[in-house]
Amino acid sequence: MVLSNSTIQRHSYVFYNDQGRAQQVHQSRLSQAARIDANQDGILQRDELLEHLEHDHQGCHHHAQEKSDPQALVAELELHLQRKPNPSAKGYHSYEQVGQDLDGLVAKYPTLCQKVSLGKSHEGREIWALRISENIDSPEVAKRPGIVITGCHHAREWMSVEIPLHVAHKLLDNYESDPDAKRRLQKAETWIVPLVNPDGYERSRTEDPWWRKNCRPVEHDALGNATSAVGVDLNRNYWDGNPDHLTLYRPEGDTPGSTDDDWGATSDDPDSDTYRGPAGGSEVEVTGLLQLEVGHPNVRAVIDHHAYGEMILYPWGYTEDPSPQKDLLVEIGQKLNESMGNRYNLQQSSGLYPSSGESDDMQSVNGLVSFTLEVGRSFQPLPTTIPATCELVGRANLTFIDEIVRRVEDGSLPPRPETGPVQPPPHEGAPQP
Ligand SMILES: [Zn+2]
Repeated sequence: MVLSNSTIQRHSYVFYNDQGRAQQVHQSRLSQAARIDANQDGILQRDELLEHLEHDHQGCHHHAQEKSDPQALVAELELHLQRKPNPSAKGYHSYEQVGQDLDGLVAKYPTLCQKVSLGKSHEGREIWALRISENIDSPEVAKRPGIVITGCHHAREWMSVEIPLHVAHKLLDNYESDPDAKRRLQKAETWIVPLVNPDGYERSRTEDPWWRKNCRPVEHDALGNATSAVGVDLNRNYWDGNPDHLTLYRPEGDTPGSTDDDWGATSDDPDSDTYRGPAGGSEVEVTGLLQLEVGHPNVRAVIDHHAYGEMILYPWGYTEDPSPQKDLLVEIGQKLNESMGNRYNLQQSSGLYPSSGESDDMQSVNGLVSFTLEVGRSFQPLPTTIPATCELVGRANLTFIDEIVRRVEDGSLPPRPETGPVQPPPHEGAPQP
């Protein structure tokens, strides 16, 4: 939805809660309320909130295949409009608890896993990874096919933290009792990164439940203009520094610093929720992940979790053209869906909405098998739904590890091409490596 010139921003907006009591919109949300308030009467009606939710940030209608829970989404949007924390936060792991959970696994299984930091966020939080394989200190581990399982590029998508943690527990807690779990630790090196965006996540838990980006002050846009905007959309910031791959970050015809020709759900506006950043790979969260995924030659595959929509998405996202890997991706994607009773919808990422600078495109162009799983039906479903969602989507993750191991062994997964070092320049104008 576009803010038309005729839209007048009021000094206050209200909506009515389930008890019929008027709730004030927070001062920092007035411009958003003005866009929601279609008839401009100062009251945000339920149908206006629902209509707002039907659109993504670029005004595109959501995909018909996406599954959602409108009631839960309206409740989450209302908290955002009041700038109030979501009480469900206490049912999800905090940043601290994620670290403690990983420490607990290392203490319990010291020969099977290792906690590693992939980098430090702007606010000083570690981006933790748990590396899981049998005889974890042996040099043999780096020869096993590597699989990376990530969550929470987008701060508000809380369920995406829980699933990687659940998979870590499935692999390690069942190692002794379940021959399948044991085989996965003998045959693969699995990296669990539950919290790619720890700063944004904590902000979404304590301050603004709708927060999506990281929390780094942007300072300068792609043209070097000063800005007071905060945060980059980490799943719009992927570039490995290879000039041949730049078009996946910024498609041709999309001018740096200009929003007039923004293509799809990726923006050059630093205030946008889908801001791609001052340059590809400008964010430490993104370079940390790329150094793991592209920088380790044994890594063959990635699953990245997001919320919501109950979808399995495969590259490309930056173009509607089919990926050269498409047949392979559809075959593996169908296996993942079968493991979940075919409850999800499998489709190319650009079919949801085209967007550039996404993690799975940058992995795919480097020869990795990469999927995005959109889990659940809202950003922050009730914590009582966490176990069932983790159980369901956890099965797809375990199936994925099995599929990749099998295909590396029987040769049906083509070897990865040689890749250079991951070295994106700090600004789009800077000389390229
Ligand atoms: Zn997301």
